[in-house]
Amino acid sequence: MNLRLLRYLPLVIVASLFAGLPAWAEDRVSLTGEAIQGGIIIGTTEPGTKVILDGEPLMVSDRGRFLFAFDRDHEGAVHLDLEYPDAERESLSIEVATREYDVQRIEGVASKYVSPSAEQLERIARDRNLKRTARPTDTARDWFADEFIWPVNGVVTGTFGLQRFFNGQPRRPHYGVDVAAVTGTPVAAPAAGIVRLAHPDLYFEGGAIFLDHGHGLISVMMHLSRVDVEVGQQVEQGEIIGAVGATGRVTGPHLDWRMYWRAAHVDPALLAGDMPTPKPLERPTEAP
Ligand SMILES: [Zn+2]
Repeated sequence: MNLRLLRYLPLVIVASLFAGLPAWAEDRVSLTGEAIQGGIIIGTTEPGTKVILDGEPLMVSDRGRFLFAFDRDHEGAVHLDLEYPDAERESLSIEVATREYDVQRIEGVASKYVSPSAEQLERIARDRNLKRTARPTDTARDWFADEFIWPVNGVVTGTFGLQRFFNGQPRRPHYGVDVAAVTGTPVAAPAAGIVRLAHPDLYFEGGAIFLDHGHGLISVMMHLSRVDVEVGQQVEQGEIIGAVGATGRVTGPHLDWRMYWRAAHVDPALLAGDMPTPKPLERPTEAP
């Protein structure tokens, strides 16, 4: 199912494209997005409706918007139960398609990033705590339902989900999308949000910003040369929040844009859609 295409269809038609959706439900809930691993589904229903995903309640905004998403390795169908304000109920079952992930081998990574020392491991553990507390799951804003834009225009050099080897050693999959751009290129907020972390130098991520789009959807911008925002600040879509750099575990300047929904790693490219025609780079860059 193609998100770009769906955006131009009336919501009622979008809802009917989902497998298992009863025809009589079409005017009470609609879902847009791709039901695939790493996919993000945005729902619209009547304000005051209770929405339950696999037994867990989802936040529903005043506008009736809600969100759920599928991890890189999600397996199987999900079940959505809705209870409308008039107490009528319905249940939907959504099949989640699997994806194939390519292997990416990156050589020439500094050894401190591949085999950190005990001291460096302590710093990595401290960073992990900072990052965990920067991902609230209950922010009552529904900016996630607005159309996302790319934070930087450029050549995509790494896609979501790649299985990675650094200097020949297997490491965690690549959870972001990499966009090559020269150091100093402005990074824009892909949607409105509240800054939850603004750090000049995390061990792996380098300069990093966590941006909270509401209901647990968090954008992460990594390897920044400059961080222009502060924790707690609210930014609008398109506002410049920092600049591309080559900080942290990189082999060249690029933006790595990641996205979490609750504990799941999800694919930002599915929200941002096709990259606008990139401007030519001023010089060649290599980006993991
Ligand atoms: Zn990356």
